[in-house]
Amino acid sequence: MTAHIVGGGFGGLAAAALLIRNAGVSGADITIYEADEQLGGGFFLGGSAESGYNLPGSVFDKEFRCTFDLLKSIPSARNPSISVTEDFFAFNTSEPYQDKAHIFDRDGRVVHGRRFGLSLGDGLNLARVVLTPEAMLGGRRIDEFFSEQFFSTEFWLLWSTIMGSLPQHSAIEFRRYMNRFLYLFGDLSDMTGVMRTPLNQHQDFIEPLVRWLTPHRVNFLTGAFVKDIGFAPSPGRITVNRLDYERGDTVTSVAVAPEDLVLVTTGSQAADLCAGSMTEAPSPRPSGRSWALWERLAQGRTDFGNPDVFFGAARIPDSLWVTFTVTDKGTEFVNQIAALTGSEAGRGGLVTLKDSGWVLSLSVFHQPEIIGQPPGTSVWWGYGLYPDRTGEFVKKRMDQCTGAEILEEVLRQLRFDKQLDAIMASSICVPCYMPYVNNVWLPWSRGDMPPPVPEGATNLGLIGQYVDVPREIAFTIECSVRSAWQAIHVLLKRGPVPPPVYQGQYDPKALFNALKVFVS
Ligand SMILES: Cc1cc2nc3c(=O)[nH]c(=O)nc-3n(C[C@H](O)[C@H](O)[C@H](O)COP(=O)(O)OP(=O)(O)OC[C@H]3O[C@@H](n4cnc5c(N)ncnc54)[C@H](O)[C@@H]3O)c2cc1C
Repeated sequence: MTAHIVGGGFGGLAAAALLIRNAGVSGADITIYEADEQLGGGFFLGGSAESGYNLPGSVFDKEFRCTFDLLKSIPSARNPSISVTEDFFAFNTSEPYQDKAHIFDRDGRVVHGRRFGLSLGDGLNLARVVLTPEAMLGGRRIDEFFSEQFFSTEFWLLWSTIMGSLPQHSAIEFRRYMNRFLYLFGDLSDMTGVMRTPLNQHQDFIEPLVRWLTPHRVNFLTGAFVKDIGFAPSPGRITVNRLDYERGDTVTSVAVAPEDLVLVTTGSQAADLCAGSMTEAPSPRPSGRSWALWERLAQGRTDFGNPDVFFGAARIPDSLWVTFTVTDKGTEFVNQIAALTGSEAGRGGLVTLKDSGWVLSLSVFHQPEIIGQPPGTSVWWGYGLYPDRTGEFVKKRMDQCTGAEILEEVLRQLRFDKQLDAIMASSICVPCYMPYVNNVWLPWSRGDMPPPVPEGATNLGLIGQYVDVPREIAFTIECSVRSAWQAIHVLLKRGPVPPPVYQGQYDPKALFNALKVFVS
């Protein structure tokens, strides 16, 4: 038996590790096909200290059950004598977030009030969404359930800047998030319970997995784009018999036997991402390769979902983020932000500038964030929830700005005018245009995403974030690992079932914490 895994993001790598660990498949019989030259997908690490790093931010909690179960078996990057999971929890226990100031208004005042600004009516509406069966929320938007005022509350700002949701996004996804993160509800403003990787996710999660898979002799084919998958003619059954991939100028067709396994990552939040520089705005070059295979599979059939709900130019306005990563050789910025927030670097969580046109959020990482980061350098990160709006100091849309323009807008928003020249001179800000990062939040209905094993499939599993795993939320690696675990378990009938998704609505402690907000 051989296994073919399409996509070398965290989901594809986890699938290979689960095949070996849970299902006893030999690593030498597993091939991972990755279209990019680098493995890692959405957990990328680009640039360098000299040109400026480019990486994603980091939000986790203790209930990534499939992920941390798998990573218990993988030695950590920082200390190979313990597992990635042990390292992650030890770090977050010794260095928990102590966010003393999360939301700032235009005048630099911290916004934090009773009940996070929620009225009892808002509370009832939140309960209404949670109590409405998911089947009745298909295609519906969050803003159908709340007054306009709800979207200017502290609660909504905290929620949307940590989780990424916008008013026009999916009510189904919002409901799943509420249930999944209910236990964090009371502590949203100081981010107690929110966790992050000790280092960037690429070096903390991707590289250790690759280091573990390599001696198991897993075959990694980078620069290999899987163009098509062929099926054996068999009514009512879906059995892959061929996989075609393009590498350089060569297209290779691989025969797939009925007892083999094909696991396909159907899309990527990092699809078509494009980095700029201090002097250049990102100039997107759409390729559509990350979801092209899904398009192909879904053509003319209904059992593979509908990629057009999530991908394509029409989806970008409600899905786009512009992130930016700043590599700073000086100390002025970290000193000023520590003075402003009362938290040392790496302990403060997100800082949101609520009145900034782009609705900017920043996070100063625990340093060093990157193995090999030069001593004395700091790396911090941010994003704009509304990158299509015009800045107040730089009169441009965020997605059209250079790194220098974004940094200037941020510093002026922070009122760091006196330190602006020094910080600009010591910093490299790399903007990153991510047209599909928030498409996991777009309104969807049942059937828009296929299950991990489509009806009648005998040797094909679908993995990643565009696969409907009941109760699971999409904007996480947990969704990718869970879908892989589920697909492997169903198709091979080997190994344990995945642990259940944590559901706060059945956890008395979580319910009590949430209710406390309304009686405070
Ligand atoms: C800015 C940002 C911040 C994030 N923060 C967090 C966070 O804090 N916590 C969290 O849990 N998650 C976070 N995520 C989400 C996380 O990146 C994803 O959950 C994770 O990367 C999903 O893994 P995946 O393997 O399913 O998909 P991806 O990582 O997107 O990888 C899919 C891979 O498949 C490849 N591929 C697709 N089609 C083909 C094909 N036909 N042939 C060959 N290769 C193909 C793509 O090139 C890509 O590399 C973040 C994402 C972004 C972009």
